[in-house]
Amino acid sequence: MTERTINDLKELQALPLNIKVAMSCSRIRSWVNEFGEDGVYISFSGGKDSTVLMDLVRNVCGYKVRAMFVDVPTQYPELKEFVKTFPDVDIVKPKISFVEVCKKYGFPLVSKEVSQVVEEARKAKQKGKLFEERIQKLSGEYIDPKTGELSPYNCPKWKFLLDAPFDVSTRCCAAMKKEPAHRYTKETGRKRMTAMMAEESRRRTSAWIKQGCNAFDANEPSSMPMAFWTENDVLEYIYTNKLPICSVYGEVIPKGGQLTFDIEGVGKYETTGCKRTGCMLCGFGCHLEKSPNRFEMLRETHPSMHKLFDACKNNGVTYREAIEWINEHGNLNIKI
Ligand code: SF4
Repeated sequence: MTERTINDLKELQALPLNIKVAMSCSRIRSWVNEFGEDGVYISFSGGKDSTVLMDLVRNVCGYKVRAMFVDVPTQYPELKEFVKTFPDVDIVKPKISFVEVCKKYGFPLVSKEVSQVVEEARKAKQKGKLFEERIQKLSGEYIDPKTGELSPYNCPKWKFLLDAPFDVSTRCCAAMKKEPAHRYTKETGRKRMTAMMAEESRRRTSAWIKQGCNAFDANEPSSMPMAFWTENDVLEYIYTNKLPICSVYGEVIPKGGQLTFDIEGVGKYETTGCKRTGCMLCGFGCHLEKSPNRFEMLRETHPSMHKLFDACKNNGVTYREAIEWINEHGNLNIKI
């Protein structure tokens, strides 16, 4: 297997967009050549990244490939409406509701990495070493066995969550998004293509370093032909190709109303509406946003969905109360 490094990724990320488009199309062609047009599918969320992937696969490469959309009820309804404007999209649904996920597993708060560490530390007290590692991460003392240095996954700032009167969990995505996608993959036998980008998280960066863009040999083979793109590449592609996107984003425009350039001469773009279109009630990353944050905007745009903050409960604590508890004990100011 070819070895990849973080520097390889940075070099790819620094390439101009036209080269990235050509490289992504090359990876898409390899994927389709391997499994056939009816042997693959596009994982389509209706978000701007996967809208670009749809364009690359169907219009630039000219393949007749089906797409699959997971109809998560806590997503913006505009996404589903947008998805329905495309032909050949299969819609699958999760088997569990967001209210049930919160009740059963806990709230999706802070980040996937932190909530997983906290969840495992709280539940694995009997599992010796695993518990030790999780506690060390929450104390900021975990040494990465590969480097012999303090792990970048240490998260001592969040140790107070061990004493929360509710659970936080990373399992929401697994239950609401991954399970339906795995089910679809299994039932159809098609191999998926996603618009995931390495820059989105350390997990995705690690996945690219381990498997590259086309993971032919993985247990569940999958392709991420845009892995080396950046958020700005996606916006530039939409802007220059006048690609229609879901209405919740508003429009893509040059940043600040006029095109500015960074040191590498890359133009900067932004959306006039939502910056992200994940689930409306997702708390991952919400502590990093300035007011008006995603929840404050949701109260204005989708008030009936906002009411779920008082309906979703874990261990008798509502989602709203959990956020208030985190604000108080973590010295944060997440507004809902
Ligand atoms: S994005 Fe957030 S709310 Fe949506 S399924 Fe994943 S964890 Fe749950």
